[in-house]
Amino acid sequence: MGSLFRYGNRFLESHRMKNRIFRMNRHFRGYKTINRKGHSCMSFQTDTIHAGVAPDKAYGAIMTPIYQSSTFVFEDVGKHRGFDYTRSGNPTRKALEDNLAALEGCSCAVAVTTGMSAVATVMHLFQSGDEVICTDDCYGGTARLLSTIEEHFNIRIHFISLRDADGIKAHINEKTKAVWIETPSNPLLNLIDIAAVTAIAREHQLLSIVDNTFLSPYFQQPFRLGADIVVHSTTKYLNGHSDVVGGAILSNEPGLDQRLKYLVNALGTCAQPFDCWLVLRGIKTLVPRMKEHERNARIVADFLDGHPRVRRVFYPGLATHPQHELAKRQQRGFGGMVSFELDGGGAEIEHLLRSTRLFALAESLGGVESLIEHPATMSHASMDREHRLAAGINDSVIRLSVGIEDPDDLVADLRQALA
Ligand SMILES: *Cc1c(COP(=O)(O)O)cnc(C)c1O
Repeated sequence: MGSLFRYGNRFLESHRMKNRIFRMNRHFRGYKTINRKGHSCMSFQTDTIHAGVAPDKAYGAIMTPIYQSSTFVFEDVGKHRGFDYTRSGNPTRKALEDNLAALEGCSCAVAVTTGMSAVATVMHLFQSGDEVICTDDCYGGTARLLSTIEEHFNIRIHFISLRDADGIKAHINEKTKAVWIETPSNPLLNLIDIAAVTAIAREHQLLSIVDNTFLSPYFQQPFRLGADIVVHSTTKYLNGHSDVVGGAILSNEPGLDQRLKYLVNALGTCAQPFDCWLVLRGIKTLVPRMKEHERNARIVADFLDGHPRVRRVFYPGLATHPQHELAKRQQRGFGGMVSFELDGGGAEIEHLLRSTRLFALAESLGGVESLIEHPATMSHASMDREHRLAAGINDSVIRLSVGIEDPDDLVADLRQALA
């Protein structure tokens, strides 16, 4: 198959019609996970624990075994028991994939090695000459990879602000194939109206791709808002324990599902059995963890908001956040990331970063332990200074990944560090 798009607009139109019907069905079933294959119609919380997981057939182990095997013995010539080689499929990986598909409410999930390999794999849907519109406020690694793809493979990337959905219309032409959305953004927690952008994308037969890493499917479900593909860095909230790097790609249309599975097998970007087992185990506590992350993040944001040394707090849960209403409409919660601008320069920033005892100085996010980092010199250091400042990420911005420790201890730690 040369390209997903060889069928042109008719192919996309028919898959969108089908998707719309399924989206409507899901809508009327309330906040339950349901997908076309009928993997599950349990509540989201029950699915985090049970979807895709069945007691092991060999010994009845309640936890999914780690099938750490590269190959599988055939029963007879031309006959295997569902798996032949781990790059093409693995029972532990399949359990995670079925679980993820149930949580996002879609027909297909493929587990890959990292969030970046999810992005790289999805970009193989396109070919030389195609164009993709991407939020200019995306994860630094995504921006770096898309720019490299643009240089090497002649796929033009338009990095633009998607905060004004209508603004994308000016960048759509007959070569445009997709729009890449990431919301909330990192580190400033700006939001994109997913339903508004995907509606415009649909009108122009573009694929809508949403990076849902920051909120996890518990707080945001992009397929309900018109997305065609969702990607995750499972490294973050889905796994939640800072002990694995992983990624996932999800879709909800048979042609796309098959193409993505084909690409993961062809490229070899599939996740390893042990990593899948860790992520699957992490997901079992996704709901209680996300509730605690959010409760603590609100407490931390309120504390910072009232602190004299803090110039500005970025948290969609604050009524003062410029997109607070959108956050309430499209998200089920506000998440566990809080950023703020310290009233001070380099010396004060360094002092603060050295002074926290509980908040560890580290990149990444979404783990049970709290982290503090300085985007200008750490997570966003690869961004050139001008671009970074234009995006509003000045040298005084600090980012917190609020963990699930006792919130009193977290506030006390920030209070003493800011004293
Ligand atoms: C971390 C992250 C990625 C990249 O994921 P890795 O697992 O580190 O490769 C992509 N998107 C977002 C929003 C992220 O936070």
